[in-house]
Amino acid sequence: MKVLVPVKRVVDPYVRVRIRADGSGVDIANLKMAMNPFDEIAVEEAVRWKERGIAEEVVTVSIGEPKVVETLRTALAMGADRAIAVQTEVAVQPLEVAKMLRAIVEREQPRVVIMGKQAVDDDSNQTGQMLAALLGWAQATFASRIDLSDGEAEVAREVDEGIEVVRVKLPAVITVDLRLNEPRYASLPNIMKAKRKPVETLTPADLGVDPTPRLEYIRFEEPPKRQAGRKVESVRELVEELVKRGVI
Ligand code: AMP
Repeated sequence: MKVLVPVKRVVDPYVRVRIRADGSGVDIANLKMAMNPFDEIAVEEAVRWKERGIAEEVVTVSIGEPKVVETLRTALAMGADRAIAVQTEVAVQPLEVAKMLRAIVEREQPRVVIMGKQAVDDDSNQTGQMLAALLGWAQATFASRIDLSDGEAEVAREVDEGIEVVRVKLPAVITVDLRLNEPRYASLPNIMKAKRKPVETLTPADLGVDPTPRLEYIRFEEPPKRQAGRKVESVRELVEELVKRGVI
């Protein structure tokens, strides 16, 4: 079966971000960028399916500035077979991303779309669900275990009370959680090999989608600074201090 893995290029999660002085957004100029960590987990899972002979082809897609090609090369170095870059300077939002992914699904006809449960830059947690709805496909979100067979997938989902196991018929959209697997580091020979793997370039117009955002961000603020802590000698002192401060 063919598997499609959408990957988003985001600010490296280990980099500290700053809000622009006018509060209009986060200043990402010159920051280190990386593949969204949940998407690395999705690529890893798809590549393992290929290695086990469950998947025949792993196609990866990214939507954004021309540099998304760098992120796609990482997915190719991890083991994806080919890539599609949908290039736009617009900061696309989940509904428009989902519409473009639907158009790609219609062209590529994968049996499974596996993707991150959320992008760590905007924390939307919407795209997978919207894509499943647009396609009229089954969805299984927050996967921490996936058993894929020809016609269906059994998915363990991380929910508040524990693990919920669902079975979905294919085709399906599956979004992945942190504990599904540990993504591999690409080896140097595979990074070299990835340079020769095919990357197709498209625009939103090629997919018949207007990428203009519908949601307007009004203002961004830093969280309040934490006050310095103080070490206490005993539980008694801790409780007295908490009472004094009106915490308990
Ligand atoms: P979100 O709904 O924005 O939190 O993103 C959820 C998932 O949708 C991500 O983990 C990606 O797999 C996918 N996704 C979101 N934005 C993009 C994008 N611009 N290009 C490719 N995939 C994306």
